[in-house]
Amino acid sequence: MTIANVPYTRGPHQLTGSCHAWLVPDGTWGWSNAGLITGDGQSLLVDTLFDLAMTREMLAGLAPVTDAHPITTLVNTHANGDHWFGNELVAGAEIIASAPTAAEMATNGPDLLLRLLKQDGAVGRFANHIFEPFDFAGITAAPATRTFERELTLDVGGTEVRVFNLGPAHTGGDSVVYVPSARTLYAGDLLFIGGTPIVWAGPVSNWVRACQFMLDLDAEIIVPGHGPVTDAAGVRGVKDYLEFVAHEAAERHARGMSAEDAMRDISLGRFADLDEHGRLAQNILAVYYELDPGLERVDTLEVFRRIADLEGWSE
Ligand SMILES: [Zn+2]
Repeated sequence: MTIANVPYTRGPHQLTGSCHAWLVPDGTWGWSNAGLITGDGQSLLVDTLFDLAMTREMLAGLAPVTDAHPITTLVNTHANGDHWFGNELVAGAEIIASAPTAAEMATNGPDLLLRLLKQDGAVGRFANHIFEPFDFAGITAAPATRTFERELTLDVGGTEVRVFNLGPAHTGGDSVVYVPSARTLYAGDLLFIGGTPIVWAGPVSNWVRACQFMLDLDAEIIVPGHGPVTDAAGVRGVKDYLEFVAHEAAERHARGMSAEDAMRDISLGRFADLDEHGRLAQNILAVYYELDPGLERVDTLEVFRRIADLEGWSE
C-alpha cells in the first residue's frame, strides 16, 4: 500500500489489515477525518465528527467492518468539536482522552460556535460561510470516561495501539494514535494537509517537537485530522510552516511590531497556497504569547475577526 493508492474521497478506506480511515474532503473548517483500528472481534474508533448526521453517516459506512468488530473503545484526539461532537452515537464504548482534552471538552461545547454564527458583519458572514453546513442542534456532550496524561498502550483484540499526548500545541491536549504492527499513525489535528495548521494553545515550539516525535515513529501511513492521507513528507510540511511562522513573527516581535500589524506584514511565500491562510492571525499570537507570557490574550471572536479580515471577508 502506498499513499498514492488512498484516494481523497468521502467515506471508508482500508489502509492495512487492521487500519481504516474515514476521510471527509475538503479538509477545511470542520471537515475532519476519523480512523478505525480492528482486532479480534472488536475495534477502536479514532474521533467522531462535527455533527450527528455526519457521524451517523460514518458509523453506517463503517458497519461492514464494525458488524464483526464492534467499537469497544473511542479515542478523542482533542477537544475541538469536529473530533467529538458525535460521541453520543458510539454508545457503550469506553471514551478515552488525555486529561487536558477531557478538561477542555467541558468548556468546548457547541455554544461558542452558535455565538459566532450570531455575530454581525464580517465575522458573522465568515462564520456562517464555514459552519453553515453543520447542524449543532440537539448535540448532547458525551465526554471522556477514561483519561490519561502522556501515554497509554491499549490491546484492541490483539492489536497493540499506542496513544501519545503530544500537546499542548493545537489545543491543550493533542493525542496521536499509533499502530506499530501496521506502521500507521492517526495524527489528529497535529497535521493539516493542504490547509493551514492553527495554533490555538501552543507553544509553537512544542508543536514542532511533536512533529519530530511523529517523524521518529517512522510510520508508513499517516492519517491527518484534516486533508488526504500522507506520510513523513506531510509532517515535514507542517513542521516547516510552524518554523517559518515562528521565525517571521519573532523577528517582528523583536522590532516591537504588534501581532495585528505582523499578520499583514508577513508574506507567506511558499505557504501562500494553503487553504485558510488567515489562520496566520492566531499563529502569530501564539508566537507572541510564547515570547511574552504576560501578553493579554486576544479572545476567540476577535481572532475570527482577524482571520476573516485576512481572508478578505471585510466589506
Ligand atoms: Zn479538526
